[in-house]
Amino acid sequence: MKENLKFEINYIAYKSSDELPENYKLLVDAAKKATNDSYAPYSNFNVGAALFLNDGQIILGSNQENASYPIGFCAERTALSAAASIASHTKIKAIAITAKSLKNPVLTPAAPCGICRQTIFEAECKHHQNIEIILTGESGAVYIFKSIKDLLPLHFDADFL
Ligand SMILES: [Zn+2]
Repeated sequence: MKENLKFEINYIAYKSSDELPENYKLLVDAAKKATNDSYAPYSNFNVGAALFLNDGQIILGSNQENASYPIGFCAERTALSAAASIASHTKIKAIAITAKSLKNPVLTPAAPCGICRQTIFEAECKHHQNIEIILTGESGAVYIFKSIKDLLPLHFDADFL
């Protein structure tokens, strides 16, 4: 028997980061600051990520490219690796992700790539806690998702960890 099914994703949208509650705005501003540490001479696409940990720490990450393209790191995984290195037992409440580009200003929310979605999902499983996902561009809308599972609907269930 064939069925036509669909996924439904619920998320919150703000027209701009100016409308955000203060704690979200703080994290988005931190992610924007992180774009200044991006090393992106090949794409000129500077991505920043900021993690908010349960203990109040904010950990930044930015994309780090390489002439050997596949070994470059995304901002999200740079931040997650830093958190795992310096606060491995501290749970992560939220991640803000943003991007800027001199070539084409980023006016829509920057979304994580597939590898980063899987990596964020693993962090949720490791700590048994959802990580709020906050996406924005240089300006314009901000999207907030309750969990990376909303952006990775057919995820591998690693809850046995
Ligand atoms: Zn990525």
